[in-house]
Amino acid sequence: MADVVATYESDSHPGKFYNICRAGDGSLYCDCPAWRFQKGKLPNERTCKHLKLYHSRLVQRTQAKYDGAPRMQAAAFTPKRKPALEKRR
Ligand SMILES: [Zn+2]
Repeated sequence: MADVVATYESDSHPGKFYNICRAGDGSLYCDCPAWRFQKGKLPNERTCKHLKLYHSRLVQRTQAKYDGAPRMQAAAFTPKRKPALEKRR
């Protein structure tokens, strides 16, 4: 089963909507012609302006949640834990 995670109106065909769907394996796909015509690429390598828009909104939301600091960077500055033996002193 695929869930529709976002719907975008077509720029060239107002009134026509394209759906971003999440497949059962977690991969995202779009049902617009631009996405479907990317033959020769694996489904998870294809992209289109709707998927890009969807991803850029996800990034914005993530950044707001972590107060502008990407999670990966914050983790890089976390000091390593001391060895358990040292703790017992
Ligand atoms: Zn699309």
